[in-house]
Amino acid sequence: MPNPPFAMLATTAEVLAQPDADERLLTGFERDRLERFRRPADRDDYLAAHLLVRYCAAAHLGTDPAAIAFGQQCPGCGSTVHGRPHLTDRPGTHLSLSHTNGVIAAAAAPVPVGVDVEHLGARSNDPATLQHVLTPAEAALVHGHPDPTAAFLRLWVRKEALIKLGRTSLDALASLDLSHLPLDPPPSHRDGDLHYLELTTPTAVFAAAATLPVELLPLPGQ
Ligand SMILES: [Zn+2]
Repeated sequence: MPNPPFAMLATTAEVLAQPDADERLLTGFERDRLERFRRPADRDDYLAAHLLVRYCAAAHLGTDPAAIAFGQQCPGCGSTVHGRPHLTDRPGTHLSLSHTNGVIAAAAAPVPVGVDVEHLGARSNDPATLQHVLTPAEAALVHGHPDPTAAFLRLWVRKEALIKLGRTSLDALASLDLSHLPLDPPPSHRDGDLHYLELTTPTAVFAAAATLPVELLPLPGQ
């Protein structure tokens, strides 16, 4: 039996404090990318994200982060230096990765998995944005919620996770109605064949979705 889907959620600082957090774990195209960042914070976020996805894949496979053959492929342009993450030597293992403003989420699973994380407070509740990505029923729920920003981000990360899972597309977000799901869900819940893992921390709003329950793992050594 393969391990269940695993997800990890951490700050950039927490990942970079790991004893083996070192860019030498990264492969050539990632180190090239690291060198091109102008802002140190962006560089740190990229490095931490690409380390966290290795920690997560290593835990899932019962192997060492240094043994993880990480690759990316863009479904849009075919590039192999950005886009959807995968393991070059294990097509049966699925990865997902998300990072923004010092927070990172990663997942590794025996089935397709999607994760998304947003920094709490980083995005405003601009009505134009709401219209673009929410159905009228969802927008009404967000406006009626005591914390509309957190409520909007909950729906946003949920939809982004579904995009990464291949269940919807950016263009279709405004017609994908998730208003039947709670805006303040229990960490684990289910909708049809999809299992969600959803968390709100003081700094981040996180969602993972897969056709198997997703388990949250701590960072190695924590
Ligand atoms: Zn591309």
